[in-house]
Amino acid sequence: MSNIAFIGLGNMGGPMAVNLVKKGHHVVGFDLSDSALNILASAGGQTADSAVEAVKDADIVISMLPSGKHVAELYSEEFIDQLKPNTLLIDSSTIDAVTARSVAELASSKGCKMIDAPVSGGTSGAQAGTLTFIVGGRQEDYEKARPVLKCMGQNIFYAGTSGAGQVAKICNNMLLAIHMIGTSEAINLGIKNGLNPKVLSEIMQKSSGKNWSLEVYNPYPGVMENAPASREYSGGFAVDLMTKDLGLAAEAGLESKTSTPLGNTALNLYRMWSDAGNGKIDFSSIIQFLHKEEK
Ligand code: NAD
Repeated sequence: MSNIAFIGLGNMGGPMAVNLVKKGHHVVGFDLSDSALNILASAGGQTADSAVEAVKDADIVISMLPSGKHVAELYSEEFIDQLKPNTLLIDSSTIDAVTARSVAELASSKGCKMIDAPVSGGTSGAQAGTLTFIVGGRQEDYEKARPVLKCMGQNIFYAGTSGAGQVAKICNNMLLAIHMIGTSEAINLGIKNGLNPKVLSEIMQKSSGKNWSLEVYNPYPGVMENAPASREYSGGFAVDLMTKDLGLAAEAGLESKTSTPLGNTALNLYRMWSDAGNGKIDFSSIIQFLHKEEK
């Protein structure tokens, strides 16, 4: 059993922290939102009034925050100075590799160990404890983190040195956005030509168009009971977070002189969808950008 501080208890961090409690760890959580804190408390976790209070006795700190800005602000010099020597820091937020490397260097200069460990698998994977973790950092720190990551995930990958987890993650999310848009486009075309979206989705799931969006995250309401589309696109992966990830992919493409034409198109579509007032709802809502109910 470890003493774990968990910072950021949102759609992903909340259920991840609860799974750590279920596996017998002592978890102290901190979030800016009271409702997020209450969920952890009702699952048997402890809550703190600040990040500094949460890490008081921690051997391991896990963060699950929206973006690089939040991560850089959390892991300030003053904050890291509060930690015990050799504390293992695991940042599971999806952020740019440059920030991931700079906070890891700062942590290392202060006698702590830090890995980037972004996740894939969505809120359902976070709840079920079946996430995929993609780790960047020193191999020995990855080995040390594995048992705790195993409490929240099924597949734990070592991608390479510091920042490599984030690079792999944005490649994955660029592909996710592209196949979510493609899936939405195909379902809309089927509906407009008289098909039932559920029947069409079943057919494509067993055909060469099969992909994760079709299998576990169908964007059309009512096709899949547990998908965000069937609860008015709430409680999933926000359009603004996907737009952020596509921006990170576009930046990485510019820096490495790599063409990502479909990734850039996906970025533009998600940005327009966010600008139209949809930033907080689930990213599978992009189907509504294409599909208009007949009046
Ligand atoms: P979220 O907005 O639901 O949760 C973020 C939480 O961080 C919120 O509860 C917020 O109050 C809290 N927070 C913000 N600043 C804070 C601070 N300074 N101190 C403490 N708490 C703070 O977001 P999410 O969907 O849980 O995503 C978190 C990260 O995981 C993002 O980087 C996202 O890209 C990534 N991610 C999300 C999904 C998904 O399906 N939602 C999947 C994979 C990866």
